[in-house]
Amino acid sequence: MAEQGQDNFRDTIGTLNEEGKRAWVFPKKPDGKWYDYRKYVSYGLLAFLFSAPFIKIQGNQFLMFNVLERRFNIFGFPFWPQDFHLFVIMMLIGVVFVILFTVAFGRLFCGWICPQTIFMEMVFRRIEYWIDGDRGKQIRLSKMPWNAEKIKKRILKWFIFFIISFLIANVFLAYLIGSDQLLRYIIDGPFKHTSTLISLLIFTGVFYFIYAWFREQVCIIACPYGRLQGVLLDNKSIVVAYDHKRGEKEAGRAKYKKNEDRPTTGKGDCIDCFQCVHVCPTGIDIRNGTQLECVNCTACIDACDHMMESVNLPKGLIRYASEENIEKKKKFTYSPRLKGYTAVLGILIALLIGMLFLRNDIEARILRLPGQLYERKADNIISNVYTFKLVNKTIDDIHHVQFKLLSHKGTIKLVSNNMLDIDGQGLAEGTLFIEINASALSGDKDRLEIGIYSDDILIETTTTAFLGPRSYK
Ligand code: SF4
Ligand code: SF4
Repeated sequence: MAEQGQDNFRDTIGTLNEEGKRAWVFPKKPDGKWYDYRKYVSYGLLAFLFSAPFIKIQGNQFLMFNVLERRFNIFGFPFWPQDFHLFVIMMLIGVVFVILFTVAFGRLFCGWICPQTIFMEMVFRRIEYWIDGDRGKQIRLSKMPWNAEKIKKRILKWFIFFIISFLIANVFLAYLIGSDQLLRYIIDGPFKHTSTLISLLIFTGVFYFIYAWFREQVCIIACPYGRLQGVLLDNKSIVVAYDHKRGEKEAGRAKYKKNEDRPTTGKGDCIDCFQCVHVCPTGIDIRNGTQLECVNCTACIDACDHMMESVNLPKGLIRYASEENIEKKKKFTYSPRLKGYTAVLGILIALLIGMLFLRNDIEARILRLPGQLYERKADNIISNVYTFKLVNKTIDDIHHVQFKLLSHKGTIKLVSNNMLDIDGQGLAEGTLFIEINASALSGDKDRLEIGIYSDDILIETTTTAFLGPRSYK
């Protein structure tokens, strides 16, 4: 670990040893006010994560990301590939929100909301503490030869980790293929759907690998969000920070001596107890300043507060603070940069709400059959052939669907049946002919407006091209 005043901590990452091999982190079990708050938030989020695919709103799964069938539900609102533009705006809102949030509050998201941190710290790590014990016992166990105790503990831990990974994979699948489908597969028996079973086992393996072995490396080397910190954070961002002014003072940090009158010695309030380091799940020393590895988990705040209490110094040596707050004692200000991001966010949200209200319940697409020109029929009738696709975005069936020409006088004939029914969230596809008297055409390529009716009520309009002979221009 870096000594005071040295910058060599920047040359390596805390989870690699000098030979470049993985240095396993054995974080001490956190305990304190912030850890308790995080536990409550995590349990709430875990309950949400596990229940969201099984909650239905008007028959729609609350959250679903069915990439295979290209169907998405967000907060019970179904989206189709045709709503891709809405999706893009949602993504942009997400990105701007994350930027705004990060500029103001650093990696608060990582410590409090990110599923990786929640599963790692609040599920898998707690099981590890329960089986292996706290930091000291874990270190002893790892150095211990393979005896009965170690084998028993390892097998128990790995088995529980596997079961939880399998559960997470199931929930993940419920988000992907829908909870109804997943439950159907479970009732049918897994061996009737071997490809799904294989996918499930692959997901399980990935989760197991992440939580049993890869762990904090996800945040340090795999997560792109962590890499953005250098760009997004400034000296006004509130992060988990060590108050170096108070911690170091004129004489620097120093071990605590019993009965010393610390303020008169010129020594900083940091008693160099290393508790903030021992508790850190990413293996860093927060006293070296804001670092890419810090996921703002608050464990070091709790650890340091305990120490400050025990030596009768004020708490908050490590706390949520900006660099400006520590250096100049300035309070949080709503900077022009934040105002700019907030304005962009407001515009995007307004745009999304407007588009959601304007969104139709049915999506219609009528396209000329590729490679076909037109056909001239008796009585100067020109005929074009089309394929159509109607997507019902609602959960209600739509009955007696008909097409009518709105822009021209003419007829539309469906190849199969002149009336259609479309199931809720279903689609109807087929072929149709449009016939128009050549005298009604204004050129060799007219734009037609077509109305889609259900029980004689207009539910959607769409346009398509109609080809006619050149001489009728
Ligand atoms: S430095 Fe503190 S807040 Fe950051 S990851 Fe380590 S313990 Fe958590
Ligand atoms: S826990 Fe607090 S007092 Fe102890 S080393 Fe860390 S910053 Fe210093």
